[in-house]
Amino acid sequence: MLDADFFRRWMAATAASVEREADHLTELDSAIGDADHGSNLQRGFTAVTAAVGKDAPATPGAVLTLAGRQLISTVGGASGPLYGTLLRRTGKALGEEAEVTPDQFAQAFAAGVAAVGQLGGAQAGDKTMLDALLPAAQALGSSFEGAANAARAGAEATVPLQARKGRASYLGERSIGHQDPGATSAALLVEALARTAADGGGA
Ligand code: ADP
Ligand code: MG
Repeated sequence: MLDADFFRRWMAATAASVEREADHLTELDSAIGDADHGSNLQRGFTAVTAAVGKDAPATPGAVLTLAGRQLISTVGGASGPLYGTLLRRTGKALGEEAEVTPDQFAQAFAAGVAAVGQLGGAQAGDKTMLDALLPAAQALGSSFEGAANAARAGAEATVPLQARKGRASYLGERSIGHQDPGATSAALLVEALARTAADGGGA
């Protein structure tokens, strides 16, 4: 079972990973965007860790809805509302249970990913965070590790794609040959999830 502490640890692991990879994310965003993705997410996940530490939400759903709200209010740029929606919608789908099964979480996460698609209007293959999130959501029903691998592979597979949504789409064919920053950070989020589960609490 997964309790609130598991989700707090997932958010902390994501924040640490974003901190470590911020320069890389910004570098990717400087090739096909406006060079702010690393700093956007750094600001967002710093706020998430602070809020989750301060409010100590007691349920998995409350941890994720709080985290989502922080991302929406602190991250300027497209990725804030999109990641915020992912976590809020996932949290909402988890309801008020004190503990959830990995299966319940997989279903809730799939609802969160679907909400990102609705908000941003992107589909698989548009070279966005969804190219990591969609395969991850599909694989999450089987294992956390599988979801992390699927997210990483999905992010790497954005390199040859032409962007059809977001700032990178303004570049047209010139967006080809670069890995999407948002798909890369989405892989970090799912990898942090798999590490959190492997460190105990994902049974
Ligand atoms: P901005 O583009 O406003 O500077 P960020 O740099 O923080 O915002 O985030 C850019 C990332 O957001 C992109 O790499 C892409 O993955 C994601 N993104 C942008 N628009 C969309 C969309 N409509 N749907 C899904 N993801 C999107
Ligand atoms: Mg940007």
